[in-house]
Amino acid sequence: MADLMKGKVAAITGAASGIGLECARTLLSEGAKVVLVDRAQDKLEQLCAELGENALPLVVDLLKPAEVSGMLPRILDIAGKLDVFHANAGAYIGGPVAEGDPDAWDRMLNLNINAAFRSVHAVLPHMIEQKSGDILFTSSIAGVVPVVWEPIYTASKFAVQAFVHSTRRQVAPHGVRVGAVLPGPVVTALLDDWPKAKMEEALANGSLMQPKEVADAVLFMLTRPRNVTIRDLVILPNSVDL
Ligand code: NAD
Repeated sequence: MADLMKGKVAAITGAASGIGLECARTLLSEGAKVVLVDRAQDKLEQLCAELGENALPLVVDLLKPAEVSGMLPRILDIAGKLDVFHANAGAYIGGPVAEGDPDAWDRMLNLNINAAFRSVHAVLPHMIEQKSGDILFTSSIAGVVPVVWEPIYTASKFAVQAFVHSTRRQVAPHGVRVGAVLPGPVVTALLDDWPKAKMEEALANGSLMQPKEVADAVLFMLTRPRNVTIRDLVILPNSVDL
C-alpha cells in the first residue's frame, strides 16, 4: 500500500458491516485514521480492536437526531480533526408497494435520507470553516435507474442524488467536495432479505459485486487532486435486470 491517505482522518457511518467496513479497511491500509461510526457497539469495538490503533469506534444511532447533531465534537475529540465524512449507512426494503409496511418504509427513509442529510448538516460548517473536506455518500445504481423491484429504496437514493448535486455546487466555493459512489448489488448483509431465487439468479449471472470494489472506487475518488471535482461514480453490475 502507498500511504495515499496518510495524515487524513475519515469518519464512515455504517462502518461495522459490508461496504462501510471495507471502506474503513481500505483507508486504514492507506495510512488514514478512521472513525468507524455505527450503532452496533459490540461489533464495532471488536472490529476496531482487530483493525488497530488508527481505527476508532464511535457508537451513534443515526436514527436519533440528537446523537447525529452531537457527532462532530465527538469525532474531533477522538481523532483530532476531520477531512472526510462518508455517509454510508443505509437500509434496504424491496418488494411490491401494495404489500409493503409503511412503518418500515419510514424507518428506511429516515436512515437513508434524513439521517444522512442531518449528518452532513452536522459536519459541513466545520469543513467550510477549515476551507477543505470531502463528503461522500454511498448512493446506489438505484439512485439513477428506477429499479422496479425496490420503489421506496429507489426513491430514497434518488433523494440522495438530488442532495449530492445541489450541495456539491453550494459548497465547492468553500473548498469542500461532495460526491457519491453508486454501486449495483453488493454482497453484504443488506441483501439478506432478497428472495432466494433472485439471489441465486444474480449469483449465477455474475451481477453481484464485492465490497472491495466499492472501497477501491471510494479511494480513487478521495485521492483525486484537490482541484478536481469529485462527482458520482457508478459501478455497473453485469446486468441491470434487477
Ligand atoms: P450492511 O447492512 O452490511 O451495513 C449497514 C451498516 O449500517 C450496519 O453496520 C448497521 O449496523 C449500520 N446501521 C444501520 N442502522 C443504523 C443506525 N440507525 N445508526 C447507525 N448505524 C446503523 O449494508 P451495506 O450493503 O454495507 O450498505 C451500506 C450502504 O451501501 C447503504 O447506504 C446501502 O444503501 C448502500 N448500497 C448497498 C448495496 C448492496 O447491494 N449491498 C448496493 C448499493 C448501495
